[in-house]
Formats: sequence, C-alpha cells, structure tokens
Amino acid sequence: MKLINGATYGIIYEDGLALATAACLSKSTGIPNIMMVELWQTCLSQLERELPPQDFNTWVRPLQCGDSQNPLTLLAPNRFVLEWVKQHYLARITSIVTGLQADCRVELDIGTRERAVPRPSAVNPAPSRTPTAAATPPPEKTAVTSKAPPQSAPVPDNLDPTYTFDTFIAGKSNEIARAASEQVALNPCDKHYNPLFIYGGVGLGKTHLMHAIGNHIRKHRDGARVMFVTSERFVSDMVKALQHHSIDVFKNNYRSADVLLIDDIQFLAGKERSQDEFFHTFNELLGRHCQIVMTSDTYPKEIENLDDRLKSRFSWGLSVAVELPDVETRQAILMSKAAASQCDLPPEVAFFISNHIRSHIRDLEGAFRRVMAHSKFMGKPITLEFTKDALKDLIALHDRAISVDNIQKVVAEYYKIRVADLVSKSKKRPLTRPRQLAMALSREFTSESLPSIGGFFGGRDHTTVLHATKKVAELRETDRGFFEDYEKIRQLLSH
Ligand code: ADP
Ligand code: MG
Repeated sequence: MKLINGATYGIIYEDGLALATAACLSKSTGIPNIMMVELWQTCLSQLERELPPQDFNTWVRPLQCGDSQNPLTLLAPNRFVLEWVKQHYLARITSIVTGLQADCRVELDIGTRERAVPRPSAVNPAPSRTPTAAATPPPEKTAVTSKAPPQSAPVPDNLDPTYTFDTFIAGKSNEIARAASEQVALNPCDKHYNPLFIYGGVGLGKTHLMHAIGNHIRKHRDGARVMFVTSERFVSDMVKALQHHSIDVFKNNYRSADVLLIDDIQFLAGKERSQDEFFHTFNELLGRHCQIVMTSDTYPKEIENLDDRLKSRFSWGLSVAVELPDVETRQAILMSKAAASQCDLPPEVAFFISNHIRSHIRDLEGAFRRVMAHSKFMGKPITLEFTKDALKDLIALHDRAISVDNIQKVVAEYYKIRVADLVSKSKKRPLTRPRQLAMALSREFTSESLPSIGGFFGGRDHTTVLHATKKVAELRETDRGFFEDYEKIRQLLSH
C-alpha cells in the first residue's frame, strides 16, 4: 500500500483497503487511533485472504472502524449490511480480533466516518479491482432529485405498476436480491449498491425487482427521472440515432436519467459500439451520483463477449443472485398472482401446480392462466381434479426432460421436413414457420437461454429467437390452423 497524498485530510491510498484506515482518523480530534487502525487493518487483511472476493468486497470492505479504543466499533453503511455482517461475519471478526488483542470486544453500528478527502467528481477511468476507495465513484450525495439537464427526447416511462415490493414474495432463493433492491429503492446512490447487479436464470423475478425499485423511487422522490429499458432497446435506440444522425439526442436522453434500470444487459454481448456507448453513459451517470441497476442471466464476469472494462465496472457495487424458489415460495407466489387476478385459488391446487411445474415462475403463471381459462371456458370451478386434467399435457411435458434436439425432431417430422432444413439459412416460407415454432417451443419447454437456442438453429441471433416466440404467440391467437399445429406438436412432445 502506498501513500500517494498525505496532507492532513488529504489521504488517498492506492489500495482501497486503506479506505478503512483513512476512515479511522478520530472524528473528534483528527488524530488516528493507531492501535485500532492497525488492529482492524490486520483483521481486514486476514478476512481478505479467507473470503471469496465478492463477499469480502460486498460486506467487509465497506466497514469502517470508529474511533473508540475498546470496543473496536465497526461502522456499517446501513442496516442491511450491519445485519448481514452480524449474522455471517461477526463471530469470525471477533475471533480474529481477540486473537490479536485478547481483551478487545467488537461492536457493530451504523454510520459513516467523514472521508479524509473530497472524492473526485468523475469516475476513475481505470480501476483494477472491485469497489475500492479510489476506484468507485463518489458516494456522498444522492442525485435522485430531478436535476438533469433539459432534454430533447422524452425519457421512456414503461415501469409496470404491478411489479412492486408488495407483490414480490420473498423466500430463501431471493432474499438477498430483494433486500438489496429495497435498500437501493430507499437509499439510491449509496456507493455500496451502485451499480446494483441482479443476476440469475430466466423467469425468477429479476425484472420484477427492477420495476419495484423504479416504482418505489418514482413514488417517493418527486420528479426523479427513472428510466427503465431493456438492453435491446438501448441498442435499437442507438442504431436509430446513428441512422438519423441524432446520436447526441440519444446520448443526452440516456445520460439525463437519475435512475437507470437496464434489463438483460447480457444482450449487449458482442455489440461493440453499443458497449462503448453504454460504457460512457455508465461513467457519466455514476459520475453524477445516479443510481444504476442492471439485470443479467449470469454473474458480470461471466458474460461472454463483453468488454472487460464493463465487466469490471459492473462489479463495482453489489451483485446479487436470484435462484429458483422452493416449492412453498412458488406456491405463495402463485396464490398472490391468483389473488391479484381475483381468482380464489385453493391452496392444494396452487401446491399441485408449483410442485409439478418446476422450471420458473413464468411457467407457473402460464399454467395457472391455462387452468383459469379452462375453468372459465367450461364453467367449472377450479378443483384439484379439474386442474390435474387441465394440465395433463403440460405436466407430462415438464416431467420429461425435453431438449432442443428433441423438439427439432418432432417439429421436422410433423411438417415432413428435415432437421437440417430447420437449422439451415433458408428463408423460404415452408421452412420459416416450422423453424419459428420449434424455437418458440424450445423457449417454452427447455431451460436454454435465447442465445443458446439461437445456437441450436444454425447460430442465429437471440433476437431472431425472440422474434420467433412473439410471432408464434401472435399466430396462436389469430391463425386457427397454426393453433392446431402447435397444440398437436405439444401433445406429441408430451408422449
Ligand atoms: P426474470 O426477469 O428473472 O426473467 P421476471 O421478473 O420477468 O423474471 O418474472 C417472471 C414472472 O414471475 C413475473 O410475472 C414476476 O412477477 C413473477 N415472479 C418471479 N419471482 C417472483 C416473486 N418472488 N414474487 C412474485 N412474483 C414473482
Ligand atoms: Mg427479465
């Protein structure tokens, strides 16, 4: 660790670990409490060796030591971190500390020591690691108060008002993601959660949480410019702007947000120009103390074909995972969805559906809608027997491990074409419909991601798969022949 600026109240260390040390300057006297500083420093180094980097950076690094002698008081930036540290690390911290100084007690409190230096106003251009004092953007003030420059293009406002924290059911699988999202909603721009990166499989509530953050901030902070976009929208806006020579409008628009919520960031993969533009937007927003929330299907470092600069920036704040909820949580989610649709769903039916449809929540909802539709259509109440019957095919499908290969074979046989035609580049009509159908079925009945389904179909782009699923959904509504083909193929797959 090297001292690069040591004037009174002007200490910046190259190594972010020293943030804790700098923060140990006694607030009242300005005199460093040397013993506690050294003690905590040694403890930090030990914990850094013991813990996975992500855990260390997220929970331990933000702790600052207070100026008391004994106990050693560790200040957590907020209650969330305090509780987490208490539950998971306090015992270990105490044991390291008492190993170093037998009579020293450790206490946790909420608070922040004054920084020894005014933070730089722009984002450090080349951080080498996850949140360090010098590398992270300034945390102190909250920018979420509509103060962005006037804009020529409107901020898209497409938050779904039904996706709130109240409608999000918490369980073990999502408790950290939910708690972190609530923290961001309550205290946007806290540097320990900026950016907030929520990752996990499809249909597990990432987008829901993101909207919940946006809805909360919008409700509680008058005039805040909350902007929700998918990364695809970001790319398409940029392409349009380039076509119409209006890239400045595009830049101003995105950079005017107080809170930028950007969904499915993995789709920026391989798009260099968009990544570059996003990189600058990201820096600008963080430099202005704006909150950024992102979602992705994987941990930032694992997104393929993504610029390393972005990967590293994405891990600056807090990355949290959502996982598949257990059956009880799925049941609770389903019951709450049913209640929101004014449907009195018996608990045993909700349990039955949750127990048999184990892929993700979107599928659960799909199954539930199917039962509701059958019940309405046939004028029968939703009982367990009725549900078993209505979901016969679907459950058979879910009980079988269906692969994309499988789907391609069945679809090809049904339409009397070859699998090679399905995956070929040919755009002839007799091939495109079956191909789209096969892609849509793959999306529905396998856990493959959009890009990986694209890969099965001759290396097509994920947007082609997305388009196919939308087209198929539309044709199922409007084209009776197509609807019947779809149903028959689905039945074939379930046997
Ligand atoms: P993802 O973005 O992870 O693919 P979504 O947020 O779109 O998933 O969630 C899919 C559906 O499942 C949405 O309707 C969402 O409301 C619902 N859902 C997922 N998890 C939960 C939860 N814990 N509580 C309530 N609804 C949930
Ligand atoms: Mg989503």
